[in-house]
Amino acid sequence: MDRIWGQACAELEKSVGPNNYNHWIKPLHLAAIDDGAAHFVSPTRFISDWVNRHFAKDIMAVLTRAGATVERLRFDIGSQAPRPAAQAAAPASHAPEAPTTRAPRADLGAPLDPRYTFSNFVVGKPNELAHAAARRVAEGGPVGFNPLFLYGGVGLGKTHLMHAIAHDYQARHPSAQVLYLSAEQFMYRFVQALRESTIMDFKGMFRNVNMLMVDDVQFIAGKDSTQEEFFHTFNALVDQGKQIVISADRAPAEIKGLEERIKSRLSCGLIVDVHPTTYELRLGILQSKTEAFRAQQPDLEIGAGVLEFLAHRITTNVRVLEGALQRLFAHASLLRREITLEVAQECLADILRTNDRKINIDDIQRRVAEHYNIRLADMIGPKRARNVARPRQIAMYLSKQLTSRSLPEIGRRFGGRDHTTIMHGVRKIEELLVEDSSMVEDIAVLKRMLEA
Ligand code: ADP
Ligand code: MG
Repeated sequence: MDRIWGQACAELEKSVGPNNYNHWIKPLHLAAIDDGAAHFVSPTRFISDWVNRHFAKDIMAVLTRAGATVERLRFDIGSQAPRPAAQAAAPASHAPEAPTTRAPRADLGAPLDPRYTFSNFVVGKPNELAHAAARRVAEGGPVGFNPLFLYGGVGLGKTHLMHAIAHDYQARHPSAQVLYLSAEQFMYRFVQALRESTIMDFKGMFRNVNMLMVDDVQFIAGKDSTQEEFFHTFNALVDQGKQIVISADRAPAEIKGLEERIKSRLSCGLIVDVHPTTYELRLGILQSKTEAFRAQQPDLEIGAGVLEFLAHRITTNVRVLEGALQRLFAHASLLRREITLEVAQECLADILRTNDRKINIDDIQRRVAEHYNIRLADMIGPKRARNVARPRQIAMYLSKQLTSRSLPEIGRRFGGRDHTTIMHGVRKIEELLVEDSSMVEDIAVLKRMLEA
């Protein structure tokens, strides 16, 4: 192993350059190569993530040239040799919170990300309900919510919460079978079982789990036979008192092509909404990630106001926010320089630009018309019937809220209406938001779609 890695390193130093080599590759230890996978031990998760993202191809190429057959890289964090197989049993800890890297039904489920734990999840107003419900379900007590249905826009932490439930529940109930997979994988396994005539095994395996978690269930909307099977699995498990956790990008009622009986079965449990992040939550997430990084790299300097700036400017998606922060950290540790506001702006110019992409009035009119099933032309037309006028007022309200257009400008875009008409429409919706919870829900859904 040492000989192969020694030879590979000499080549890597040339192909990635001495700076990259010293910083990212040198800290790695090649522990084993088996079955096409090279197993490395890395001192930190950050280094292995970075290497995997930027240098995986180079490493595989030089290892292959050095005489090994390598198709993928595996990383363990720590200083000893890794376990030989990635699916080896998790450390036998009974304390909650110990992340398990194995999916108990490795043959069916998807692996869990060890970083997605409750302790790494930052709680704020937008996600506190979802977090509390997830905690409750993870405890596995007698009175849970079944199913628990989490929904919300992209990158708001649904998958993170599901993995956290799985880790925590598994740690409390070491012998329980927890099965986590995406709806897409569910479908894939189902179709495969049909093709290979192993459908009885398929059914049996799903029905033997203690907790079933299906991520991104909107995927099976419109896929009839998969829905049918999902529905039966779902019923069988709920009837046996087994816990089900489901996520989707929108509320059950909003998923087109999802059968009514599934919707109604879903609404027997608890449906919670992960709201778009607020500035406070984004800042909290950035601070906690920075602290975690500093624990590994104490000399990291982030200038005053940088995190606030990011929280202010990157508003859509926590994944993008994390990506930006990772890039800053990498920049800081490569150049050994403090990250000032100017450095951050320069280093993140591309991300900041896309996040600046403005929502425009056309988008708003189109989305609102689709949502209420009216014609786009009625947005600007003269009709006064309530079923047309109300959506039009909602579009006016959203135009005022989400764009920087003035009332007269908005008026012009709504068929040349006067600015007082726009103001009236905006006020009307503001009033309804106070007294009508379905309006609150509608506006939230529309905003989420527009901001996605
Ligand atoms: P979703 O499944 O809703 O699209 P993810 O769970 O994949 O979103 O989250 C995207 C990324 O953002 C993940 O890396 C996750 O760890 C992180 N993230 C989201 N919300 C939080 C939070 N409240 N605290 C810490 N990390 C978060
Ligand atoms: Mg997800």
